[in-house]
Amino acid sequence: MSFAHLGLLEPLLRTLERLDYQTPTPIQEQAIPAILKGRDMLAAAQTGTGKTAGFALPVLNTLLQEGPRVSSNSARALVLVPTRELAEQVLQSFLTYGDGLPLRSYAVYGGVSINPQMMALRKGADVLVATPGRLLDLYRQNAVTFGQLQMLVLDEADRMLDLGFADELDQVFSALPRKRQTLLFSATFSEPIRSLASNLLRDPLTIDISPRNTAAETVTQYLVGVDKKRKTALFAHLLATRGWGQVLVFAKTRNAVDGLVADLQAAGISADAIHGERPQPARLRALARFKAREVRVLVATDVAARGLDINDLPHVVNLDLPVVAEDYIHRIGRTGRAGSSGEAVSLVSADEVEQLAAIETLLGQTLVRQEEPGFEPTHRVPVTTPGGHITKKPKKPKKPKTGTTGRSKKIHLGNWFEES
Ligand code: AMP
Repeated sequence: MSFAHLGLLEPLLRTLERLDYQTPTPIQEQAIPAILKGRDMLAAAQTGTGKTAGFALPVLNTLLQEGPRVSSNSARALVLVPTRELAEQVLQSFLTYGDGLPLRSYAVYGGVSINPQMMALRKGADVLVATPGRLLDLYRQNAVTFGQLQMLVLDEADRMLDLGFADELDQVFSALPRKRQTLLFSATFSEPIRSLASNLLRDPLTIDISPRNTAAETVTQYLVGVDKKRKTALFAHLLATRGWGQVLVFAKTRNAVDGLVADLQAAGISADAIHGERPQPARLRALARFKAREVRVLVATDVAARGLDINDLPHVVNLDLPVVAEDYIHRIGRTGRAGSSGEAVSLVSADEVEQLAAIETLLGQTLVRQEEPGFEPTHRVPVTTPGGHITKKPKKPKKPKTGTTGRSKKIHLGNWFEES
């Protein structure tokens, strides 16, 4: 993939060539064509991913192609940032990428005299980079108006909220025309960011480039040994006794998925299914109901769940271990994201020892084992060691230990999440 394929205009391509930017970064590859098409965007991306060029290039491109010349005391694109340092840095990017273009970029921020900024704004700015407080001051003094505003970018929106800019942001938003394109960049998709996004964005494209291993470190993993035929009963028992809210459950086959859903429904627990045999609209409906919290338990196979946007769940349960060890990583990556903590619980029977050993080899650690009183297996899962070795003849079953979550431990997953 080259920049030329992303739909940028010739002068921008020449600048990129001069800067020796040979290939777009992943966020640029996804964001640039969508922004050029006029879409709103919610992107999770940190510094170092190339996110600044990811919005600066298409913003410049759009300003070149659409809209009138900028009037005095006007801005056509507004980029809100949390700090003065970031304002200068983002301005530098616009100046670099916009070199030679008939567009003016300028930055305003607090902590310095307002007068030179008021003078400079008389000429108008095609791109105005601003911290919220100083922007409001300028707006109140009529140094800037937003009648010409076409595009709004929020950069490091999570930091703006952390720094207490929520009220200022609201005041800025209420001064902007409703018809505009809005792009929201944040290091994480926290609840306040999602709520900000739902108020500001229209049908946004969501992009998530954040490194996932940071979140994965907050996932607590353990397994509960159980006889195969008692897995469903154990799951219902854990659901009832461990204070779990919504749970995403993975099962190996379509039959196992449908079986668990039917059993849960029979027990009065709302549940829905996602597997490859269900038509896409039914799968999407199940997902929507789960996200809307109309359904407590969503049961899925690996194939059907891959690529679905299900994040930030407190609990993921493996009714069966996956056949492919890497799928374990994908499954448990559905929880503990964006800094929240999560639990991944696997219900494991003796016949799954090979899969367990493969997963533990991949993780480089053995999973903590628990047993649940009343569900102790008659066939214990053979002992495994991190190298994948299985002791074929398990020792005589010891007196069952009682399981408590206190026995579980956090496992660091390193970079496994990076590739998903
Ligand atoms: P950012 O994540 O926006 O802070 O950008 C990080 C750094 O990567 C900046 O120094 C950019 O100049 C540089 N950069 C951005 N995109 C590319 C690219 N496609 N190729 C090479 N360098 C890039």
